[in-house]
Amino acid sequence: HLVLTGVHRHYGEGDTIVRVLEAANLTVQSGEMVALVAPSGAGKSTLLHLSGLLESPQGGEVEITGVKTSKLGDRGRTQLRRSTVGYVYQFHHLLPEFTALENVTMPQLIAGKPQAEADRRSMELLDLLGVGQRASHRPAELSGGEQQRVAIARAAANRPKVILADEPTGNLDPETSDLVFAALGSLIKSEGAAALIATHNHDLARKADRIVTLRNGLVVDHSL
Ligand code: ATP
Ligand code: MG
Repeated sequence: HLVLTGVHRHYGEGDTIVRVLEAANLTVQSGEMVALVAPSGAGKSTLLHLSGLLESPQGGEVEITGVKTSKLGDRGRTQLRRSTVGYVYQFHHLLPEFTALENVTMPQLIAGKPQAEADRRSMELLDLLGVGQRASHRPAELSGGEQQRVAIARAAANRPKVILADEPTGNLDPETSDLVFAALGSLIKSEGAAALIATHNHDLARKADRIVTLRNGLVVDHSL
């Protein structure tokens, strides 16, 4: 699970200070899919970066799978991030010269998994996301929705406990967005990961277990 407690993040200082998060609290349980819906500039990406240990808060605590990260050094944070966090971006960032299968296999090989086992896991994920039959294709040969599903498979490859997605369907048409969001949802349930998904799309957000937003630097329940 993912727990943010009293998280504070601002950028700049003095007259040009941008206060993004003041004392943000958020808990995402394992197997729970939380949608984060807030206006542009409200701090969605910042919250995801902090949750994924890509950035550090100036105050408060980010806890992943029970590990409090504020006391960790750079190496400890990187190690924890690699072993527990899967990240999906708006633009897939797949490696263009590798096939879909290889893109999903690579992070597993880097983590030390044997090739055959990594291939098996990759095919299982690609099948689950409905792109198994495109495994041997390169990203340029896939549609936007297919590319994004491969990117989701890659993010899930090392069985992350926390899945973070920053507008994963922001680049897709409504029908494809539905498909990709549903695929992401079934993946989260089958893997039992804690997932936080930033999206501008209210219709998609309603398919999550819970919707939160950002107000005055706090994470608040969307219905409030
Ligand atoms: P969008 O929906 O447009 O992606 P967002 O909700 O993801 O917006 P963030 O990217 O988290 O918003 O940015 C929150 C605020 O922090 C914005 O006002 C942004 O300008 C500011 N900000 C983010 N990163 C930096 C930075 N490195 N330096 C200065 N200001 C920053
Ligand atoms: Mg953003």
